[in-house]
Amino acid sequence: MVYCFYFMHTKENTMNLCDLNNIRTLLGRHGFHFSKAMGQNFLIDASIPQAIAEHCGADENCGVLEIGPGIGCLTEQLARRAGQVVSVELDRRLLPVLEETLSEYENVSIVSGDIMKLDIAALVDTHFSGLTPLVCANLPYNITTPVLSALIDSGRFQRLTVMIQKEVAQRICALPGTADYGAFSLYMQFYTQPELLFDVPPDCFTPQPKVTSAVLRCTARKAPPVDVADVPFFFQVVRAAFALRRKTLLNALSAAFGSRLRKDELSALLDACGFSPTVRGETLGLAEFARLTAHLQAALKH
Ligand code: SAH
Repeated sequence: MVYCFYFMHTKENTMNLCDLNNIRTLLGRHGFHFSKAMGQNFLIDASIPQAIAEHCGADENCGVLEIGPGIGCLTEQLARRAGQVVSVELDRRLLPVLEETLSEYENVSIVSGDIMKLDIAALVDTHFSGLTPLVCANLPYNITTPVLSALIDSGRFQRLTVMIQKEVAQRICALPGTADYGAFSLYMQFYTQPELLFDVPPDCFTPQPKVTSAVLRCTARKAPPVDVADVPFFFQVVRAAFALRRKTLLNALSAAFGSRLRKDELSALLDACGFSPTVRGETLGLAEFARLTAHLQAALKH
């Protein structure tokens, strides 16, 4: 019995980083206090980081970028699976903590900095040469959408597995015609195939967030789902359609492009797209927006 206990302890060399007492002792020793501004909610249910790391599908051929390791509970799960892990942490007070909790993992690099200010593509190219780049993170919720956009715009990642606010995950996965559907749904669905994997309730964290969380997996598309000649213009049209959400598409487009196209021209253009004159932008999918973009672009060239 005693031997068995001892054996288990040496094999599982690390302490349980999701145990609330361990977290309190560790953070107390380092004089750490949680910062709301930095979106700090640490996981206290060990099954969650394990499940997230498992779902991200990392193996020794993958380089995983993590944002916001906290005390390293997810980082450790990633380090056990991936070839390399790079973890970007904004809060310098956590650096000595991470040095302690992750000391045994040689494939982990902690980068001290703000993910919003780093050159993500350069970071990947420097650290993950020859590896398949993935993202896996429990994101700071206050910067979820800009971080996801920056990660996708870097054009580097094959898959992003992130824990975010459930409401945002639902918006990302939303289908046309639903209340959650918006410009960000179209952006995410254009570049990736998003799947909402599972919910994580507030009592899995310390301190508890006010919202329910969810784990979202976004698999990068190998090719765009629809033909779009000018992608920035496509998203300009999408944003215009949702800027005046309660108005008809005709009025929304008129507000955005009225200085260059008359209303009757826009009306004829919607007709040529096969849309009803009173259609709302929120009912259109990727294919319809692609068609609209092509017609608008042709009309604006005249
Ligand atoms: N992964 C940990 C902690 C998640 S809390 C866990 O699941 O327990 C969010 C983490 O993101 C915190 O460690 C916070 O300090 C960090 N963070 C907040 N803003 C950041 C930014 N702009 N860049 C990098 N890390 C950030």
